[in-house]
Amino acid sequence: MPFAPSDVILITGGSRGIGRATALACARAGARVAFSYRSDDAAARDTLAACQALTGEDGAIALQADVVEEAQVMALFASTRQRLGPITGVVNNAGIVASSMPLADMSVERLRQVVDTNVLGALLVAREAARALVDHGALVNVSSMASRLGSPNEYVDYAASKGALDTLTIGLSKELGPRGIRVNAVRPGLIETDIHARAGRPERLAELGPGCPLGRAGRPEEVAEAIVWLLSDAASYVTGAFIDPAGGR
Ligand code: NAD
Repeated sequence: MPFAPSDVILITGGSRGIGRATALACARAGARVAFSYRSDDAAARDTLAACQALTGEDGAIALQADVVEEAQVMALFASTRQRLGPITGVVNNAGIVASSMPLADMSVERLRQVVDTNVLGALLVAREAARALVDHGALVNVSSMASRLGSPNEYVDYAASKGALDTLTIGLSKELGPRGIRVNAVRPGLIETDIHARAGRPERLAELGPGCPLGRAGRPEEVAEAIVWLLSDAASYVTGAFIDPAGGR
C-alpha cells in the first residue's frame, strides 16, 4: 500500500475529472481523503460516495471551497485537519481554461478569472500546504504541458498561468526541502475530462489525440497514478521535479 491509514490527502477540485480520479486513487491506495469542490454538488456527492466505498464512511469528506477566496481555503485546511487529522499530502488541482482565442481578443475579465483561479488560487493552496504539512509531507501541483507548448491561438493565458505553477514548484521545493517537505508537479497533456467542453472545444480530444506519440488522449486515472507516486514514500528523494503524463506530446 503506498499510504498508511494515518495519511490524510487533501485534493482541490476533486469532484470531477483529474481531481476525482486522484481522490479515488488515493483512497484505493490506503489514505484518508478530503476533497474540495466549488459548486458542483451532485458530482461531489457522487465522488464522495465512491471514495467512502473504499475508505469507509469516516475516511473521506467533501468540502465546498472556492480556491480564490482566502478565508475559504484556510477553512478547507482547518476542517480537514479537524475531521480527518494532520494533513500529510496536498494536491493543488483546481484550475480552469477559458474559450479558445488569440490573446489580442481576450477581455480583462477573462484574464482575471484565469489568473485568479490558476495562479492566486494555487498560491493560496500552496501557502496553506506550507503551513499545514510537517516532515514527510508532500505537495503535488497539477500544472499542464501547456506551460511548455504555450497554446498559441487557444489560451496563452492558461499556458502562462501554468508556467507560474511550474516556477512555484521549483521555488517552493527549495523553500520547504529543509523541513522535509517535497514539492513536485505533474504536467498532463490532453486528458479526457469535461474541461475541453467547458472551454467550448469538445472536439479537441478527437482532433489532437491521434497526433500524440502514443496515439490517443490520456485518461484521468493515468494522471492520478503519477500523483499518487509523487505523494508516496516511493518518491522520498524526489522534489522540485515534473512528471509529464502527456503521451509524449
Ligand atoms: P475539470 O474542469 O473536470 O476539473 C476542474 C476542477 O477544478 C473542478 O473540480 C472544478 O470545480 C475545480 N475548480 C475550478 N475553479 C475552481 C475554484 N475557483 N475553486 C475551487 N475549485 C475550482 O478539469 P480537469 O481536466 O480535471 O482539470 C484538473 C486540473 O488539471 C486543472 O488544473 C487543469 O488545468 C489541469 N489539466 C487538465 C488537462 C486536461 O486535458 N484535462 C491537461 C493539463 C492540465
